[in-house]
Amino acid sequence: MPPWNVPAHGTAASLSPFTPRGPRADLARLEASDRKHLWKPFTQMAGYVRDAPIVVEEGLGNWLRDAAGREYLDGVSSLWVNLHGHRHPRIMARLREQLDRLDHSTMLGPTNVPAVQLAERLVGIAPGERLSRVFYSDSGSTAVEVAVKMAFQFHAQHRDAALRQRSVFITLTNAYHGDTLGSVAVGGIDLFHQMYEPLLFQTVKAPGPDPFHRAFGQDVAEHEAGCLAALRARFEEHDGRVAALVMEPLMQGAAGMLRHSAEYLRAAVAIAREHGALVVLDEVATGFGRSGHMFAADLAGVDPDLLCVAKGITGGVLPLAATLASEAVYEGFLGDQDEYRTFFHGHSYTGNPLACAAALASLEVFEEEHTLERLQGTIARLGDHLDAFRGHPHVGDVRRLGVMTGIELVADRATGRPFDSDPAVAQRVIRLCAERGVLVRPLGDVVVLMPPLSITHDELDLLCGVVFEAIDEATRAL
Ligand SMILES: *Cc1c(COP(=O)(O)O)cnc(C)c1O
Repeated sequence: MPPWNVPAHGTAASLSPFTPRGPRADLARLEASDRKHLWKPFTQMAGYVRDAPIVVEEGLGNWLRDAAGREYLDGVSSLWVNLHGHRHPRIMARLREQLDRLDHSTMLGPTNVPAVQLAERLVGIAPGERLSRVFYSDSGSTAVEVAVKMAFQFHAQHRDAALRQRSVFITLTNAYHGDTLGSVAVGGIDLFHQMYEPLLFQTVKAPGPDPFHRAFGQDVAEHEAGCLAALRARFEEHDGRVAALVMEPLMQGAAGMLRHSAEYLRAAVAIAREHGALVVLDEVATGFGRSGHMFAADLAGVDPDLLCVAKGITGGVLPLAATLASEAVYEGFLGDQDEYRTFFHGHSYTGNPLACAAALASLEVFEEEHTLERLQGTIARLGDHLDAFRGHPHVGDVRRLGVMTGIELVADRATGRPFDSDPAVAQRVIRLCAERGVLVRPLGDVVVLMPPLSITHDELDLLCGVVFEAIDEATRAL
């Protein structure tokens, strides 16, 4: 059993900020309409429609409440987006002010006040020395799409014709960069990508470090050195033709929280630079404090040419993304109109003023509440809890970067043999957690914890206690 007191059943409700209430009168109708009309992301709908859905209706602090009146701790930050809790008063107030001024206007031609202010702030907090330009879009996928097109076009129209041969993208296996075709092309998760293979442009894949599934008996440093040697070999093989290295710094999130060291990241960036390639870091998941620093690149001290951010940028309130670029990349696109050096890309809602206002407010919260300083205590406490998980006979590995956590479940710890059950073991864990008032999501056999930065110590204890209990119960039954 875990060394801390697992909060008793019913504790979830006592920590939640909601005043209890019963189900909505129209609950049955909502559930029926959901089954009848919705097609949900990454979901096998044939199975989905068999269970009663959780119809979320309200959010407050780190909690959600559904239409049945059940309360849940938001243990994955509403899929990795929420930072400061739901309906944070400062962000809500900023949004209301913005609603009274301007809802949306196009960035094609005019610009708008919050978009300008936010660009200045983003450049101010961006990692490294290079990033000075902000290109907005709407999701992590489009932020990556934009970076890929920028890197490609930058080289294709290089003023030195001898340098125009660079069109190869080197990416890592197990990478996830989003679901639009360009971002799938630079991704490397077969389960998501195989079907679309014929539609994708070719990329060169180097083995991404995978500390848990490395060769048996190999130590982590050796494993990473092997990955770096393979990365270098890919660059040498395509010498003079590589446009960019694209990667998630320090943690490959969607792959199941695969962590690599800052040394690996620095070395990978150095290899790309030696070979004249641009460095594109995808901080869609790791950005805005999730790593314990504002950006993972800060932690490792690396200086990208292009940086992709989304998810947490608005505090998890509205969709917004940005691709930050260096001045050198930006200048590669300057010229007379008839030189066609323009970056021909843009979305209807580029730089949406409401989303930008929310993002500005979120950055103000970071300052006012000393979010990053306070987070260090949360991370330390999470680390203590996770040590207890490491002792569980069905926990094969625990991987963490800041508050981003993956707990890998295995049938046999000695060999790392995975479970072979239907539904998958992590799926069972998630269901038991929901019954106990805690929402988490699995990635394969990995239980992911991604608490909001604002999670309190009591809530963190509840999250870890419930997840531990659920793992214990789900694995005992198998
Ligand atoms: C979630 C994610 C994306 C895609 O972002 P969307 O907003 O879902 O399109 C891209 N890269 C990484 C690293 C992510 O975690």
